[in-house]
Amino acid sequence: MTNVLEASDVAVHYGGVRAVDGISFALEEGRISGIIGPNGSGKSTLVAALTRLTHLTRGELSFAGARYESVRPASIASMGVARTFQTVRLLPDLTVAANVQLGHDARARRDRPRGRGLPAPVSQALDRTGLAEMAHVLPSELSYGTQRRVEIARAIVMAPKLLLLDEPTAGMNQSERRDISALLRQLRDEGLTQLLIEHDVQMMLDTCDHLFAMAQGRLLTEGRPADVVADARVQEAYLGK
Ligand code: ADP
Ligand code: MG
Repeated sequence: MTNVLEASDVAVHYGGVRAVDGISFALEEGRISGIIGPNGSGKSTLVAALTRLTHLTRGELSFAGARYESVRPASIASMGVARTFQTVRLLPDLTVAANVQLGHDARARRDRPRGRGLPAPVSQALDRTGLAEMAHVLPSELSYGTQRRVEIARAIVMAPKLLLLDEPTAGMNQSERRDISALLRQLRDEGLTQLLIEHDVQMMLDTCDHLFAMAQGRLLTEGRPADVVADARVQEAYLGK
């Protein structure tokens, strides 16, 4: 098995706050790895560190075997790492297709001539996420769950090797969640490696191939999702049992 990403002793401190405090882990190619942990345990900070959007107090990062903890955030997309954020970040005045195209343009060469219609990768990303019929509406006309789907389309249009998803189903109802879970598994079956952060334990059990549990900036344990959720330390730290 190949590791797409490896992190070694990664720490992110904000003054006295040890948001991430010495984490080592690997993401195996072709699977959905998940992170669970209570609010404030450092999950989003870890994703920010992996995408170079925050500083590393210490530690090493490798992607596809090459060290990258010193690369600029702007290089992350061309390296093959895409992400979605914990809150929706779509441009309200652009159509769904235009929002997705922004992700495409971020990766595509700028001097590429613009033909009529949507670039093939944009159409494909809209198809894969079930958005083809909504391509020409504005985000405000869509349900919250569908807006989150647009963000996933905007991330996968870059044909990333790794997709990081920070709470993609926050604020969704059960059926929207099941839809996103099915979409992520479909993308996994097409070969897309993913790191998923979610609070909904059932969704994580249904979606992830491997699970990490964090508490207070550290990794508590990792392994098969059912084993991790059943772990006494996880039950205590995360589920309050
Ligand atoms: P999670 O995503 O698991 O809820 P976060 O990574 O958002 O946790 O936060 C981890 C800890 O780091 C929290 O105590 C939070 O207040 C703190 N933190 C996060 N970002 C910053 C920042 N930019 N400056 C200072 N403290 C931060
Ligand atoms: Mg968070």
